[in-house]
Amino acid sequence: MMKGSAPTVSNEQKFIWLDGELVDWADANVHITTHALHYGIGFFEGIRSHATPQGPALFRLGDHLRRLEQSAAVYGMTLPFGPDVLADACCQVVSANGLGDCYLRPLVFLGEGANPLAAPLRCAVMASVHGPLVGAPKTGGAKAQISAFQRYSANAMPPAAKASGQYLNSWIGQTTALQAGYDEAIFLNETGFVADGWANNVFAVARGELLTPPQWSGGLPGITRDTVLRLAAEDGLTVAERPLVRSDLYLAEEVFLTGTATGVKAVASVDGRRMTAGAPGPVTTRVTELLNAALTGRSDAHPEWLEYVS
Ligand code: PMP
Repeated sequence: MMKGSAPTVSNEQKFIWLDGELVDWADANVHITTHALHYGIGFFEGIRSHATPQGPALFRLGDHLRRLEQSAAVYGMTLPFGPDVLADACCQVVSANGLGDCYLRPLVFLGEGANPLAAPLRCAVMASVHGPLVGAPKTGGAKAQISAFQRYSANAMPPAAKASGQYLNSWIGQTTALQAGYDEAIFLNETGFVADGWANNVFAVARGELLTPPQWSGGLPGITRDTVLRLAAEDGLTVAERPLVRSDLYLAEEVFLTGTATGVKAVASVDGRRMTAGAPGPVTTRVTELLNAALTGRSDAHPEWLEYVS
């Protein structure tokens, strides 16, 4: 795990769901000839589960599994298991491991075989437990750097896919930002518009409006992004999907990042230019409250977003 990513408290659990059944953590291994290791051919999701008074609840499970299916589909591949089986696998991993607050990782990957083009897709679902996923916004805020590494163009790799190999682009930008003393990389697309962060989407507040780049800018269609757009609009904020260039971020009153593992992360500065409202600003703080209430079932605005583990 890279420095600066979500703090892992305990990664090891009792069981992992692998190719249709729960297996002991220690037995969930693959052979070195597994093609996904060589070529990065795989698709994955990150899903949050929270302990609620009604038991563990998975946030927007159906939407995450739909994105997984679409990630494979744009590469012309079909998942080895349908959404009902995968939804059940996610619930099994939470309950068999006795978890409440955790992060779930469904991973579909290209297995072994002499010919990679004919190798089977395999599938695992694993859980990890992090530090508090839901909490008050940090006072300091992150130092973001506009990465010198641009997001791949839509004609190189499909931005809508959460595909393993595509993360080399995130990796090089984020590790370079960390080495330079920043906390977060923000990627521009090939025409200079803001795409997204290494594992999160980007929001800016300007003249009181909450802005985020449109999907064509090349960012992943984040489920937290969609959640924040909807909750903020329902709360009466003016929200808009608008192309942003780097100076829009320099001049913004507030900037924050969103993602399943990140939640809402306030940005204090971009390339050393400090946000005028400070970090976290009032909109960042309000959006954090709205998102946390939705994730933990404290708000009854969208009961359809929570899938309870029975
Ligand atoms: N962009 C990238 C590159 C990501 O990896 C993620 C994390 N999945 C996001 C944005 C945020 O997406 P989500 O809110 O669905 O986690």
